[in-house]
Amino acid sequence: MKTLQTSVVASAALAMGRAFVVSRAVDSVAHIKGTEEEEQELFTNALSVSRAQIESLATDSDIFAAHLEMIDDDMLSESVLSKIAEGESACEATAAAAEQMVAMFEAIDDEYLAARAADIKDIFARISANLSGGVQNPFEGVEQGDIVVAEEIYPSDMALLDLSKIGGFVTAQGSATSHFSIIARNHSLAAVVGLGEQVGQINSGDTLIVDGYQAVVVVEPDETTVNSYLNRKLQEQNLHNEQQAVAAMAVSYRGQSVTVTANAGSVEEVERAIAAGADGIGLFRSEFIYMQSNSEPTEEEQYRVYSAAVRACQGKPLTIRTLDIGGDKEVPYLGLPKEENPFLGWRAIRISLDCKEMFCRQLRAILRASAEGDVRVMFPMIVDVAELETAKSLLEECKEQLKAEGVAYDENIKVGVMIETPAAVLIAEQLAERCDFFSIGTNDLVQYIMAADRANVKVAHLYNPYSDAVVRALTMIITAANSAGIECSMCGELASDSNATEMLISARLRKFSVNIGAIASVKYTISKL
Ligand code: PEP
Ligand code: MG
Repeated sequence: MKTLQTSVVASAALAMGRAFVVSRAVDSVAHIKGTEEEEQELFTNALSVSRAQIESLATDSDIFAAHLEMIDDDMLSESVLSKIAEGESACEATAAAAEQMVAMFEAIDDEYLAARAADIKDIFARISANLSGGVQNPFEGVEQGDIVVAEEIYPSDMALLDLSKIGGFVTAQGSATSHFSIIARNHSLAAVVGLGEQVGQINSGDTLIVDGYQAVVVVEPDETTVNSYLNRKLQEQNLHNEQQAVAAMAVSYRGQSVTVTANAGSVEEVERAIAAGADGIGLFRSEFIYMQSNSEPTEEEQYRVYSAAVRACQGKPLTIRTLDIGGDKEVPYLGLPKEENPFLGWRAIRISLDCKEMFCRQLRAILRASAEGDVRVMFPMIVDVAELETAKSLLEECKEQLKAEGVAYDENIKVGVMIETPAAVLIAEQLAERCDFFSIGTNDLVQYIMAADRANVKVAHLYNPYSDAVVRALTMIITAANSAGIECSMCGELASDSNATEMLISARLRKFSVNIGAIASVKYTISKL
């Protein structure tokens, strides 16, 4: 028996099963390097085969739609072709370009761009495989309940994996914010990631216990360990069953209805959230539409996404937050300047109000979708009344334009404000008089109140949503909303933490917007209060 341990909690669940160690070795076809032209041709052929493969997968997957845009980016092909021109073979040039581009993205301390590095790695791996005899499915042979053990799980692997078959994941690389960690959490699959070289101690066929709660993997457990695992698994299963039983139900506290909506970053997530019992979408992060594109999405493109999200909501409310970029989220084609203090700089509503035409294209798209269901619009990072008033008057201008054009929209669309800055807390009463709802963004609010960067591990102890200062701010916000008779929701991570639910209910919060994986546990916790 061996115990492997890491410090990253990627997906808190338990699993036991047979190890399926993924091998991505491609047959190294003996290749005699040809002339520069021949190597160029080899590469361009592999590129177009890869493109065709991705295109056939892109129709129903956001991941592949993003890959399609990336593979069409000139930077990718030019970086390989220039290396071939320097004398490298197509295979060597592809490997070197991959290493260079991935390192470039990974060097940026940004969750979203780091996720892009995984996509780039993924695309280059496909091109390399096509250069050496074709893409194989590395998961061929996975059996029901197997634990997939890999150096890394690429975003496109998700299209090859039948998640209902998988027992769990163990990887050498990756972090809690890796794409597949998020998917594992949303599917309540056990995952232990970032084990590094320890993964080499696992062989295909070994029995593994994956303890995602403690980030531990036990290889070939002894009888006592198996028995204690089985006990814990039974408890986990019982709790899960009880939670699932309330997931689709309406919950209340002392006769007052409590809604548990979900946060979503794509139409596919909206569908999954509604299927998981969400009472609607409390935060639709519209920035993904901008981040997955190489240029600003048109009004029409945005409208199609919002309209699909409304349909996926099946009559339940959809709260669309306007573009929230800057800070830790970049959109390369907008050319945002490098800033000394990006979280205190040009971000979110500040960009929208400075780029009014772009903002109005988004508002028009949201308004058009509002004709098709219960759509609400929400502004991020508001710090004063003037910002809210300007945003609202632009919304009115867009309504006037649509009316003149004879285009349908909801005249009474609800307008909300994210309360995620200390300034917004201090003027919550004035803001409440001028909008229809609040949504508390604790992710940013905690970092601004505590002056502790949300992504800096050195100050993680200060980034405490339970600190007196934060709790006092939450009370002030909820009280201001209740006194003005407007709705108050919370869409920051704190809302998903079922350990915080009782405290939030006591603070008179009645609307939660949570991660898909937390819908059942938060509803269950409320039902037990
Ligand atoms: C928040 O700040 O709590 C929030 C929900 O917004 P984001 O995490 O997208 O900044
Ligand atoms: Mg925020």
